[in-house]
Amino acid sequence: MSSSLVDRESTVDLLKDLVKIDSVNPSLVKGAAGEAEIAEFLSDYMQGLGLRTAVEEVDTGRPNVVGVLEGEEQGPSLLLNGHTDTVGVDYMDVDPFNPVIRDGKLYGRGAFDMKGGLASIVAATKAVVESDRKLRGNLVISAVCDEEYASIGTERLMNDILPDAAIIGEPTELDILVAHKGFSWVEIVTRGFAAHGSQHEKGIDAIAMMGRVLVELEKLQGGLARKTHEKVGHPTLHASIIEGGSELSTYPDCCVLKIEWRTVPGEDESTIRNEIESVLSGLASRDGNFKADYEIILSRGPMEVSENESICQSLANVILEVTGRVPEYIGRPFWLDTEIIWRKGVPAVAFGPSGDGAHAAVEYVNVESVITAARVLERFAHSYLGSI
Ligand SMILES: [Zn+2]
Repeated sequence: MSSSLVDRESTVDLLKDLVKIDSVNPSLVKGAAGEAEIAEFLSDYMQGLGLRTAVEEVDTGRPNVVGVLEGEEQGPSLLLNGHTDTVGVDYMDVDPFNPVIRDGKLYGRGAFDMKGGLASIVAATKAVVESDRKLRGNLVISAVCDEEYASIGTERLMNDILPDAAIIGEPTELDILVAHKGFSWVEIVTRGFAAHGSQHEKGIDAIAMMGRVLVELEKLQGGLARKTHEKVGHPTLHASIIEGGSELSTYPDCCVLKIEWRTVPGEDESTIRNEIESVLSGLASRDGNFKADYEIILSRGPMEVSENESICQSLANVILEVTGRVPEYIGRPFWLDTEIIWRKGVPAVAFGPSGDGAHAAVEYVNVESVITAARVLERFAHSYLGSI
C-alpha cells in the first residue's frame, strides 16, 4: 500500500478553521450560535473535494452535512461520523475561538471534543480523493449537530442511511473504543398528605418518605459497585435534583427526586426498573403510608462491539501499520453517539486523536495525533472499501 497523502499543513489549517467557528450547542446555552455556520463551511469544503454533498436541517438552524465519495461497484459502505457542536465557553480562560498552537497542542473550544477528530475525518477523505484510486463501496462522511445534548443529528442520519460499518472520530488517543456506558434519567415521586403543621395525626410527610428512598438508593450503590464490566467499570447512580414542599407550616404532599443511573453493557431499562421497583415495594411493605411511583424519563443504552468484529481487527491492523503500536480496545464511562449507530445493527467504534479538556476551561488536541488519526482513517478507508 502506498504512503499517506494526508497533508499536514492543510489538515492543521482545516482544524484551525473549524475551531474558529463558534458552534456552541444552543440547546445547552440559550442563544448560542449552533451548527449552521460550521455546516456551511464543511459543505463548501466537501463540495470542493468533489463529494456528493447534502446539508439537512434537522431542526431550525441545526443542520447535518453529509458527503459521499461514490464507490465504483456494489461494495460495503463505510461511515465516518463526527459532531460539529461544542459545549459552552463562559468559563474558559482564553479566547475559545482563536486557536493557538503551543508545544504541539492546539488550544480552543472543541479542539479535543471533537473538531480534531472531524478534521482527521475530512483530511482522510481528501487524501482518498486525491489518491485517484477508485473505491468499490461508498465512503460516507457526516458532520452532525447536537451530540452534546440530545443527538438529534445522528438520530436523523441513521434514519436515512445504513452503512456496513462506522467509525466515530471522538478522541480515543488512537485506541479503539468498543464499549461505553449508557444512562437513564429516572423521576421518583413520593406521595404524602397535605395538612396543617399542627395536625400530625393527619399529615403525611412526602419529603421524609423520599428520605427513606434516598437511604435505600445509597445502599444500592454498594451493590452496583460489585457489578464490574471489564472495560467500562461498574454501574452507578446518583441523586441529581430534589424538589418538595411549599410552605413551612404544611406537611408536604409530594416530593420529586430525579436521579441518573449509568448502565453498563448487558443492562437495559428493565435492569433499572427491577431495582427501583424492589426498593419501592420494600418500603411500602414496611409502612402502609408509604406511596411512591417512578418513571424513566430518558434512556440511552450502553454499547459493546466484539473485538472479533472485522472492523475492530482490521482497524487495529491499520493502526499498527501506521503507528507501529498495537492499539488497545478500550471502554469509556460516558455515552457517545456510537450507540445510536450500533443500535441499528451496524458495527461501530470510536477512534480519534489525543488531547484533553473536554467540557473544561482549557481544551487542546495534540496536533500530531490529528494527522496520525487522518492517516489511519485514510488507510482504513482504502482497505475496508477496497481500492480497485
Ligand atoms: Zn464529543
